[in-house]
Amino acid sequence: MDYKKLGLICGIEIHQRLDTKHKLFCKCRPQITEEEAIQKIIRKLRAVPGELGDVDPAALYEYFRGKTFIYDYFSQESCLVELDEEPPHPVNPEAIEIALMIAEMLKLYIPDEVHVMRKTVIDGSNTSGFQRTMNIGIGRENSLINTKYGPVRIKDLELEEESSGIIQKTRNRMMFRLDRLGIPLVEIGTYPDIHHPDQAREVAETLGMICRMTGKVQRGLGTIRQDVNVSVKGGARIEIKGLQDLRLVAKLVENEVQRQKILLEIKNILEDKGLKEIKEQIIDATDLFKNTNSKLIKNILKEKGRIIATELPKFKGLMKKIICEKKTLAKELVDYCKAHGVQGFIHTDEDLSNYKLETEFENLKKKIKATDEDVVLIIAGEENQSKEVAKVLLERARQCLVGVPEETRFAQDDGTTIYARPLPGSARMYPETDIQPVTISAEILKKIKENLPEMPDEKANRFIKEYKLPKEMATQIIHSHSLSQFEELLKKYDKIKASIIANTLLSVPSEIKKKHNLDPDLIQPRFFNEVLGLLQKNKIAKEGITDVIAGLIKNPKVSALKIAEQRDLLMLPKEKVREIIKKLIGENKDFIEKKGKKAFMGIAMKNLKGKADGKLVNEIINELLK
Ligand SMILES: [Zn+2]
Repeated sequence: MDYKKLGLICGIEIHQRLDTKHKLFCKCRPQITEEEAIQKIIRKLRAVPGELGDVDPAALYEYFRGKTFIYDYFSQESCLVELDEEPPHPVNPEAIEIALMIAEMLKLYIPDEVHVMRKTVIDGSNTSGFQRTMNIGIGRENSLINTKYGPVRIKDLELEEESSGIIQKTRNRMMFRLDRLGIPLVEIGTYPDIHHPDQAREVAETLGMICRMTGKVQRGLGTIRQDVNVSVKGGARIEIKGLQDLRLVAKLVENEVQRQKILLEIKNILEDKGLKEIKEQIIDATDLFKNTNSKLIKNILKEKGRIIATELPKFKGLMKKIICEKKTLAKELVDYCKAHGVQGFIHTDEDLSNYKLETEFENLKKKIKATDEDVVLIIAGEENQSKEVAKVLLERARQCLVGVPEETRFAQDDGTTIYARPLPGSARMYPETDIQPVTISAEILKKIKENLPEMPDEKANRFIKEYKLPKEMATQIIHSHSLSQFEELLKKYDKIKASIIANTLLSVPSEIKKKHNLDPDLIQPRFFNEVLGLLQKNKIAKEGITDVIAGLIKNPKVSALKIAEQRDLLMLPKEKVREIIKKLIGENKDFIEKKGKKAFMGIAMKNLKGKADGKLVNEIINELLK
């Protein structure tokens, strides 16, 4: 695709959780726990519409769906602050320090005083009804990320509290976990200077890498998220939220460009067909389906459900049009149903014989006076909800005449997106009166500047020089999420070659998948620590590393040593090695005479299956064949 011609404009925002001792506004442990919740707290939203004042439409949209909110409360990871029953404590200075460090690395302007602000959030993910955030840095002329496609300006850096993690969402009930609420995170935003999908990936990667250089950010699934804003010429600004897999950034942008391009095509097709407006014709067609043979509809009618029908004029054929990655316009519309608690609809652009509904739809078309150019659709279920969804679908269909509706979408694991909600207005901020502003003194800044972490390139060069890492490996480890663990392990296991440690962190996850068919996400950081501990003490050979980790995944409670023993991976004692070699010499006399000691070494190593050090084997062979 010619992104220049399409007029791609894109900006990104990364959210990176910080690795602090405490949460941002209390002393709780900042981690997602594996323990069970000790209590469930049930809340209704207390605010009434009058109190919401000038809350934006997106927030109102969430609010008016009158829900119950249930919060999981954990012993170490939540307290009265998370429940909003005690005022927040002063800002965690450790979090401020890390945020300042990153702001300095990005060459941002740092204010003398940091003010905590409240950003209204009424989706229930913050018990207080707002998220606390503070500006730590503002982009300057030289606050740039340089990419192959040109520089991208950094806009700002905020230090924020993480929201609660959502467990379940239904029409009337939302369940959250409080362990995530209040974990400190930095949000770094760029200006919309990105004009190519690969450039978006480059920027996201670099920002993530700079954060990791501090050695003070959390790692693992969900600890970094990207939001991406995308628009093309004639399209609209789409905010895509919650991408966790950085490798998908480029694909996500590509797919969104594709989606907007096709939606604009659909607009042109409808215009060519002469469609000017879509009237609100919603009828109750339950009578027409009373004697249906369709099991699906029968069941719904048995539950006192109704059949609500409407018409999309001149949409014939368009419902099957692919928007992106096999997703049709019909599927795209289904997302809007789902956002309103309805699983989908049945329409005349699909094969109605699948539902045994041909006759019913023929009668329905007559009743609605639809032509063959139109699409007729039904929503089956509870009456009011179905009518509401019919309205939503008509409104979305009207947007097809505009092209691309402005909205917020959620990123999916395959690089596509689904509709989330209307685009929120720009966030309204109010000062947080419970917390004093934080002064950023010259001394603090001086200390931070003097202890600034290396930038990625500097560190890579040092790894090459100091630890003799091959260049490619150095680059890989710098880009990887295992960087800080690499540096920890390097210090701890000084007898192991740096390249073996790097290789363990970089290759074991894919080998675990390929050789053992296990999920690499199940590797806990301590597994690497334990297995390298065995290597350092010469208990196993490096060839046994992956096997031991596979064993730890299956039995996390068993020690690495025990697993090495069970899997017969322990190094053999010297006497045992001598015994085996002696026996092998006896069996291979002719071979040794013909091919020599060196060739025999290969046979010996193969028989010892990596359970003896090559140097030792060589020594014993030389001694026995003197
Ligand atoms: Zn707490």
